[in-house]
Amino acid sequence: MRGPRATAAVSVWDALGLVLAQEVKTDREYPPFDRSTRDGYAVRAVEVTSGTELQCVGEIKAGDVVTKTMAVGTCVQIMTGAAVPPGADAVVMIEHTQRIGDVVRFEQVAREGQNIVRRGAEASAGRTILTPGMRLGFAELALAAQVGAAQLQCAKRPRVAILSTGDEVVAIDQQPGEFQIRNSNSVSLAAQVRLAGGEPVVLGNAADRVEDLGEKIERGLKEDALVLSGGVSMGKYDLVENVLKALGAEFHFDAVAIRPGKPAVFAVCRGKPVFGLPGNPVSTMVTFELFVAPAIDLLSGAEARPLPFVEARLGESLHEKSGLAHFLPARIAWRGTTPEVKPLRWQGSGDIAALGKANCFLFVPSDKENIDAGERASVLLRKDVV
Ligand code: AMP
Ligand code: MG
Repeated sequence: MRGPRATAAVSVWDALGLVLAQEVKTDREYPPFDRSTRDGYAVRAVEVTSGTELQCVGEIKAGDVVTKTMAVGTCVQIMTGAAVPPGADAVVMIEHTQRIGDVVRFEQVAREGQNIVRRGAEASAGRTILTPGMRLGFAELALAAQVGAAQLQCAKRPRVAILSTGDEVVAIDQQPGEFQIRNSNSVSLAAQVRLAGGEPVVLGNAADRVEDLGEKIERGLKEDALVLSGGVSMGKYDLVENVLKALGAEFHFDAVAIRPGKPAVFAVCRGKPVFGLPGNPVSTMVTFELFVAPAIDLLSGAEARPLPFVEARLGESLHEKSGLAHFLPARIAWRGTTPEVKPLRWQGSGDIAALGKANCFLFVPSDKENIDAGERASVLLRKDVV
């Protein structure tokens, strides 16, 4: 799935979250001059011990042009971010000095190099600081801005087709009949695709009929990836797998030992990754986070980001049937100095309301039936809300 992708030049102002497709090098040394990291006095370190008094012969602000060598036996007032004058080799913080008129009294011995970042210490000139495949977060964008790379060649976002299925599903702007439901999965999937760095292409809903499914799946295969919801369970009208097979799909898995999400399937069809996620909304959301989000990373030309698992102390004891790994809607919060997690009451994988209150999923391994309050547990964070 990983490979060269179409790229586009993007302004640093708009490139947040994109994957870089070029190298970025420093345009000069960083810092470009010996930089003071404190407000204080530039000195010759050998001249300063506790009680030394020196004549202050000038001041240097950040941005000032500095060429003159500091005379022996003197000091210069200097500000954070200013260039240290030739001759000086240490900066003493103003807090460790007393000044009377032009005479500065030093309270401590000075060490050579203190409070100075030497020219080139952060990066030499022409050094590669950003590489293709890196995701552009705020720090990476600042780095690009620092070296004057105002436009960045970035991988285009992978286009991810979203197709819901089910005779009972109506568009969200329609009034559902008594036994129909609105297509909430297409909305959550589009949001998850965006969060994962993809561009959602919402194809609407296919009826539980071979022809309609076939047509809409073929449309979806024109994009970089296809995500389906519903129609992958054992029911008589769960036709997605068969339709995909008829289109030549090769299945890599057709079930997963997790709850919610057991019926999830993954296939490659006409060279495109296809995810068949179960239609129950919480199952759809969980399986997207586990399987689709990392695939979108790869399709973006990046490495898959690790899933956001953290450890927390269980706030109340728990009993789950073993055999499948569980991802239970839960809330994580700080209790003193450690995170604590509590599962929420829920009605199973159709319960969107429970997930709306959750900020994480509590992970219960398949071989664990009972976990006591106070035990450590793994938690998959909902990265959109925490
Ligand atoms: P399925 O996986 O097709 O058996 O569907 C499982 C459950 O998820 C059923 O209760 C469906 O009504 C529900 N469901 C299926 N598709 C959607 C959808 N697009 N939005 C909300 N719920 C859905
Ligand atoms: Mg269905």
